[in-house]
Amino acid sequence: MTEAEEVQLQELAHRVRQHVVRMATDGGCFIGASLSCVDLLAYLYSRWLDVGPDRLKDPSRDYLLLSKGHDVPALYGLFVELGFLERSRLARHLKTDDHIYWHPNRNIPGVEFHSGSLGHLLSVGLGIALDIKLRADKGRVVVILGDGELNEGSVWEAVLVAGAKQLDNLVAVVDRNGFQANLATEQLLPLEPLTDKFTAFGWETVRLDGHDFQALERGFAEIPRRVGKPTAVVADTVRGQGLPSLAGRADRWFCNFSPAEVDMLLQELEGTRRAVLESDVIVAR
Ligand SMILES: [Mg+2]
Repeated sequence: MTEAEEVQLQELAHRVRQHVVRMATDGGCFIGASLSCVDLLAYLYSRWLDVGPDRLKDPSRDYLLLSKGHDVPALYGLFVELGFLERSRLARHLKTDDHIYWHPNRNIPGVEFHSGSLGHLLSVGLGIALDIKLRADKGRVVVILGDGELNEGSVWEAVLVAGAKQLDNLVAVVDRNGFQANLATEQLLPLEPLTDKFTAFGWETVRLDGHDFQALERGFAEIPRRVGKPTAVVADTVRGQGLPSLAGRADRWFCNFSPAEVDMLLQELEGTRRAVLESDVIVAR
């Protein structure tokens, strides 16, 4: 990846973050998790996946499934930038006459499957990857998982089966932002050593910085790392990446900002000021 290409990706991710911030009002959104996976999604759709708005009916395309569906503002913001979705649709967020809602909806072009109830889409991705193998086709399947989502037993059933079925066209990407709702994952139910767990199930593993486009390029260039082995990419990320006033905060997982706060956060994205946030935090107990 050239330096110019890296800058282009950074600019794309920046525009997606602007969309996410604008969706965090008038009902709000899961902004922390959305911002942690913007760079992952921008990289994958721009540099690795063979898919686009004109390929959605092509069975030979690559597939991305967003299992941690509550970060869908990042996906929809990216879809606008890549031409899957008209920009005006984002203003329909949470309106009852549109499908732009808190979780992915297949009525939106580019969304491969509904999600939101956690723990399901690795199994769906496993099925698609197996179908691709049975058709002797070339498509690859990426499933984005939340780290908190790994508490779901159904995830590990799919990990077990994918290893047994030798699905080297399946890639699980863990958005390892260290939080689930308003708790640190290691505080609630420890996950580490995470790569060792996937290795024990017969997967190849890569651990990298999920905000470093050069690291993503190097990591994904090696996939599949071994014939017959699915790959788990554990991407270390920061919840709220791009906004210092939100970054790494346990209590700012879901936010419903006032219009004035949105304006301040857009300026914070530009690095011109620090937002003063007064809207309520939401604490799950
Ligand atoms: Mg998380």
